[in-house]
Amino acid sequence: MAVVDRLRTERTTFSVEFFPPRDDAEERVLWRAVRELEPLDPAFVSVTYGAGGSSRDRTIRTTGRIAQETTLTPMAHLTAVDHSVAELRNVIGWYAASGVQNVLAVRGDPPGDPNGEWVRHPEGLEYAEELVRLIRELGDFCVGVAAFPHGHPRSADLDVDADHLARKIRAGAGFAIAQLFLEPEYFLRLRDRLAARGCDVPLLPGVMPITTPRVLAKFGELAGVPVPSAIADQLLPLADDPAGFRQAGVDVVTRLCERLIAEGVPALHFYTLNRSKATRQVVAALGL
Ligand SMILES: Cc1cc2nc3c(=O)[nH]c(=O)nc-3n(C[C@H](O)[C@H](O)[C@H](O)COP(=O)(O)OP(=O)(O)OC[C@H]3O[C@@H](n4cnc5c(N)ncnc54)[C@H](O)[C@@H]3O)c2cc1C
Repeated sequence: MAVVDRLRTERTTFSVEFFPPRDDAEERVLWRAVRELEPLDPAFVSVTYGAGGSSRDRTIRTTGRIAQETTLTPMAHLTAVDHSVAELRNVIGWYAASGVQNVLAVRGDPPGDPNGEWVRHPEGLEYAEELVRLIRELGDFCVGVAAFPHGHPRSADLDVDADHLARKIRAGAGFAIAQLFLEPEYFLRLRDRLAARGCDVPLLPGVMPITTPRVLAKFGELAGVPVPSAIADQLLPLADDPAGFRQAGVDVVTRLCERLIAEGVPALHFYTLNRSKATRQVVAALGL
């Protein structure tokens, strides 16, 4: 089923994101999380796309297995990193052949150094917008794109960034998923900027339960902005109290989600880090 159809509900729903497992042990951990989340009926489950060949094969295999062996709606991520257009066509063909109809089209970052200079493959693509077009051309795919509440680090300013997001939507994306943030205003202003550009596709906030100091640090890395001081001041004193930190971190994220639900978001997209417990806790607290 297409993600956009799964998002057409009266009430806020949720979706989850995994990364491809690196070995058999990680694969078992991932599949435990998949099976624990399945009865909660998430709108869709996505699997990210890595930089290396074997990790890419595992994204294809994992999304295919989710399509064939579960009741869940899978979405595969795809990037333009180190791929010619011919290779991209091939991967998209594999997705279609394994029953994956939903693709998140992201450009990706230079391998090894996300902040390094982006150099496109000589026979590849420059921007995610072109990837959206390619995927749409190749079949009946539902395509999503990435959005950045704090602006993409390479964008000159928030308005230029929103212009580029609007271009991806006009190229055929049916929805967008936002990078992590902790202050809802940034997400809501991005939604306003999109609406001002005539784009009314679903915009999903990215949410990550903050369960450990390591996850908090990862949060800052992914969001591209420092953790707000009010939240750092609340959590960091609990760094040596794992249970207290976890509870406080889950509470912070639950309050953020409550605000987003009150603002009418169609779904909350959880970065699970391949574990289900914290996501299930937040989803239960929200009554989703
Ligand atoms: C929800 C989500 C999921 C992600 N999943 C993955 C994943 O699975 N694998 C992975 O490697 N990375 C992933 N990423 C990270 C992503 O690949 C990087 O953030 C990357 O730097 C930007 O990707 P993009 O699709 O936004 O690129 P683009 O939309 O191509 O934008 C890249 C930069 O170019 C600018 N730009 C865009 N179009 C134009 C244009 N026409 N002219 C001039 N400038 C333009 C943008 O403003 C931005 O600064 C994900 C990010 C998010 C938010």
